[in-house]
Amino acid sequence: MSTKQQIDQLREELRQHNYNYYVLDTPTISDYEFDMMLKELQQLEEKHPEYYDANSPTLRVGGEVTKNFETVVHEQRMYSLDNSYSKDDLLGWETRIKKLVDGEVNYTCELKYDGASISLTYEKGELVRAVTRGDGIQGDNVTTNVKTIKSVPLKLKGDFPDKFDIRGEIVLPYEGFAKMNQERIAAGEEPYANPRNTASGSLKLQDSSETARRPLDCLLYNLAGDRLGIVSQYESLEKARDWGFKVPEESRLVHSIDEVLDFVNFWDEKRHDLPYETDGVVVKVNNIQQQEELGFTAKAPRWAMAYKFKAEQVVTKLNEITYQVGRTGAITPVANLEPVQLAGTTVKRASLHNADQIEKLDIRIDDTVFVEKGGEIIPKIVGVDFEKRSENSTPTEYISSCPECKTTLTRKEGEAQHYCPNELGCPPQVIGRIQHYISRKAMDIEGLGGETVALLVKEGLVANYADLYEITKEQVIPLERMAEKSADNLVAGIAKSKEIPFERVLFGLGIRYVGETVAKKLVKHYKVVDAIIAATEEELVSVDEIGVKIAQSVREFFDEERNRELITRLKGYGIQLQVSADKLASQTDILQGQTFVVSGVFEKVSRTELKKMIEDNGGKVSSSISSKTSYIVAGANMGPSKLEKAAKLGTSIISEDDFLNLIANEN
Ligand code: AMP
Ligand code: ZN
Repeated sequence: MSTKQQIDQLREELRQHNYNYYVLDTPTISDYEFDMMLKELQQLEEKHPEYYDANSPTLRVGGEVTKNFETVVHEQRMYSLDNSYSKDDLLGWETRIKKLVDGEVNYTCELKYDGASISLTYEKGELVRAVTRGDGIQGDNVTTNVKTIKSVPLKLKGDFPDKFDIRGEIVLPYEGFAKMNQERIAAGEEPYANPRNTASGSLKLQDSSETARRPLDCLLYNLAGDRLGIVSQYESLEKARDWGFKVPEESRLVHSIDEVLDFVNFWDEKRHDLPYETDGVVVKVNNIQQQEELGFTAKAPRWAMAYKFKAEQVVTKLNEITYQVGRTGAITPVANLEPVQLAGTTVKRASLHNADQIEKLDIRIDDTVFVEKGGEIIPKIVGVDFEKRSENSTPTEYISSCPECKTTLTRKEGEAQHYCPNELGCPPQVIGRIQHYISRKAMDIEGLGGETVALLVKEGLVANYADLYEITKEQVIPLERMAEKSADNLVAGIAKSKEIPFERVLFGLGIRYVGETVAKKLVKHYKVVDAIIAATEEELVSVDEIGVKIAQSVREFFDEERNRELITRLKGYGIQLQVSADKLASQTDILQGQTFVVSGVFEKVSRTELKKMIEDNGGKVSSSISSKTSYIVAGANMGPSKLEKAAKLGTSIISEDDFLNLIANEN
């Protein structure tokens, strides 16, 4: 078999497995086998850039960075939907339709997925463009990000039309959303509010590998295009499914408004079992010819109607407000409710967010409150039934001291959250910081778990993460549930963390707003911890993607004498507080301030390597040519539109060799 055949075969197999896993939900091989195949393909592609394919399964991992998303005019406008709220509304709609079209009218009922709308363009069976709805007339080109969503087919199967658009919704299933929030909380960041906004935010991330890491899904529901040879909406859903799209199976073909209402009533309950959020039903006239006759109003198709589910609300009693202290000292008030059934689960607690929220809604203990489950997973109190309030009720007084350590709370200007400033003596903060330090994405210390940390703190063996490195086996053996072997493992696990690279150490320090990504950015820029410690707020802000809030927080952390002492101690124990020597050797900052666009196929290095070389040497990679582009590194087959744009802007075009010389000369 030739290399080309081998590559083609791997691509084809991976595509099928990807489809089995993400669209059909029925994988036929293990994750490990999948990864091995992917790796094999990656290696072949790196060795043979001449077989580059913009829709290869290896590109699912992302990596391309988009600074400014190009605006694209939709070939077919993306309309909004009219809303209905009752049977009468629907009957009125049916009457209007029947005046405009002949013959029997049937409907497809679909769920209304709550996410970010997207329009995908396919030509010759390949995804060529993904555009957000925008204002319906034009949207943003988010193709690089959408390509990383595994259920979006990059190549189609079967008998598809030559060119068409397909519309759908990018959603973030509850489970993945919850996981993302756990990670954010672990990084001391505010959790995301709801899956919908997070899904649409994910499409506009500059770094597509960031999008690739988010567990997004793409559900399709509408075909648009000329002469597709399809006669009904229901048929179009089936066809799209055959071509490899993820088209949910819940849709039904019905013959009357009564049946529409049956569908609505069924899903009003059952939707809580779905893995993602839905906020209603969309009813569409099934016959495409009738759809064409009906056409559009200025805002929406006349042939479709949304029927929104009512937000689920229940009434219950607020028994008590308690306060939780997080690892960063942030205080979260929690409503303890009389247990009540809501959207299929028993609700006992609801987040009250902060003092302002309690004041705004005037929530008091013993109040009868309205609780809703909207997009958020944690239910929230949306109001108080004032008529039921007892006469001697008094306004809630927010706590002024920490429930755990009694220290007076502080609240910064412009911030909603109260904080306990007693970093060193407040047990949940002391324990939480060490737990974060040892967590999987930070130092990943084997043999040491969260409960053991709490125990070590309680026993006075450690008060901060640097103390971990002083622990001896003899000290831990006497502890509850510690055997000789587990004590050995613990000490060995701690010692092994000295190999963890700097970026994860920096993340582990638990600086507010410094999550995994920010830590990486800082490390890439500064290389050694002392450079970060020495950087002023202005300097920090000038680093790519570091904002004022992060810069301030970094400064605050290192301005604390005791934090600098911790760093000195960690250095003494041999923790990686700078980029390793090998890595440093391949890095310079000679391309600082320069932006590159990489286009075409290369001979000596792969595109990925080329991009990495640019970044390792301080340059930036962008996917589109603009006045800010310093150089275009052009390989074979660079697209004509890029050439034209470069000529118009007068951007320098250099070859692969020119680029390699550029770096070699300076090094
Ligand atoms: P609205 O934003 O309330 O005007 O509702 C219109 C939006 O509903 C469309 O832009 C789509 O993004 C979304 N939508 C979700 N599910 C469907 C569906 N099954 N059919 C059509 N539109 C849908
Ligand atoms: Zn405290």
